[in-house]
Order: sequence, then C-alpha cells, then structure tokens
Amino acid sequence: MSLQWQDIVLEKGPLEKTSCDCCGGTTLTIEGDLFHAKEWLSFYMVRLSPNHPEAYPVFRFGIGDWSEDAHSDARWIFEAEHDPVLEGFRILDMSGYVEGLTYTPLCREDIIGTPYAETIFAMLDAVFMKEPRLEDLRA
Ligand SMILES: [Zn+2]
Repeated sequence: MSLQWQDIVLEKGPLEKTSCDCCGGTTLTIEGDLFHAKEWLSFYMVRLSPNHPEAYPVFRFGIGDWSEDAHSDARWIFEAEHDPVLEGFRILDMSGYVEGLTYTPLCREDIIGTPYAETIFAMLDAVFMKEPRLEDLRA
C-alpha cells in the first residue's frame, strides 16, 4: 500500500526571510516536518523568491535516520523544483555536491523508477498542497 499525500500530516516550523543580493527582494525559507500515523517521515525546507519568477521554488527534504549518532549513510537529502508551467516537480540532481557531508545527497537515479519514488512524490505533494505559507504557489 503506497503512501498518499492526503494522509501525511504537516507540522509547521520556522520561516526565515533573507534579502536577495541582487535586488533586495525577500527570499523565504519555509521549514517543517512531515508525519504519517504519528511516525516522523521527513523534514522539509522550501526556498522561494517571489521577486524572481524565473527561479523555481526548491523543495528540500531530509529522510532516513537523523538521530544524533546516525551515520551520514543513513541520512538522505533530496531536492526538487516546482515548475509552475508543468504544474509538477522535477527531482534535482544533487550528485554535484561535495564530499565530507554529514548526509548523503540523492540523485535522480536514486529516486526515479525506484520503489521510493511514490513516497517521495507523496511528500512533495503534501508540502505543496498543505503548507499554508505556500498559498501563493497554489493560486
Ligand atoms: Zn534579486
């Protein structure tokens, strides 16, 4: 049985506002956590710059084991951008990330066409549909 976005519960975290270097416009970083049946699924972080419609909002997720003693092999990060024209998500390739991280960045091939894909897209949809601070994206 696969996970549906409707069944994922979202818990809002902090909202950070930074000003853009080029234009002084505000860049938002929206954080929170996802749960299913009271079990923690992931944390998320969405970055968007309303001043820059050419830069798609980027959704970053942390899944796996993020307990203090967890090895970097057990902590996974993936990112996707939301394309407003296609009205869908594109998994970003994080293979360019440097060595020595405290987590493992996932590439497109780690997700697309694997048993994880459905769960990952359910998490993306849950944040997109349920995060109250992303109302403008859904308009
Ligand atoms: Zn700018």
